[in-house]
Amino acid sequence: MSHFEFVFAPLPRVAVEICDSDKLFPVHRIFCVGRNYSDHVREMGFDPAREDPFYFTKSPSAFTPSGSEIPYPTGTSNYHHEMELVVAIGKCGRDISEGSALEHVYGFACGLDMTRRDLQLAARDKGRPWDLGKDIENGAVISALRPISDASDIANWELKLTVNGELRQSTTLQHMIWSVPEIISHLSRFYTLVPGDLIMTGTPAGVGPVVPGDALVGEITGLSDVTAQIVDSV
Ligand code: MN
Repeated sequence: MSHFEFVFAPLPRVAVEICDSDKLFPVHRIFCVGRNYSDHVREMGFDPAREDPFYFTKSPSAFTPSGSEIPYPTGTSNYHHEMELVVAIGKCGRDISEGSALEHVYGFACGLDMTRRDLQLAARDKGRPWDLGKDIENGAVISALRPISDASDIANWELKLTVNGELRQSTTLQHMIWSVPEIISHLSRFYTLVPGDLIMTGTPAGVGPVVPGDALVGEITGLSDVTAQIVDSV
């Protein structure tokens, strides 16, 4: 039994709401997949050849729930939306096979991978880490999780994002370069995935800037919408 005490109260656990439930999903890590739709790979200036997936991470402290007001962040003049499917891991595993990967999924959500595009591209072009471009307070906007036991038709789910009612991003999940089972299997070779891990699975084409006053609505078939309102910097 430790006699130590915290010098200040630890921050509350970051957690995501669950649809039709009074329970919360405690967040452990937030992994993000880069360049997972061919049309987005092309709009970012790359050849969408099928290479191994790559990842970056967002701190759990970047999480903010759907419905939040998002202050325009400091340090950027090109803050972008990226609408994505979020996978919530509910069962521990490493070296997970593609065939059993969906057994490790607790559920799915809609997410916005908000990005300081100017800083991300500057870092990318110098071969530096993307943290300033990607790991941003209020920069991981995630809807309530929908627990799903049968995701066999996931390829047919439609994803779209509107800004002020105007369609900006639209695709079906069959266009993911790396499928959800492939991502889980690949990522689990490098990390022991544990309940509480979230994976943002990449964005299709149509990413673009937002400004204060913009209202974002992201939808995926069968999931809870993600919404956000961009407001002036605080
Ligand atoms: Mn992204």
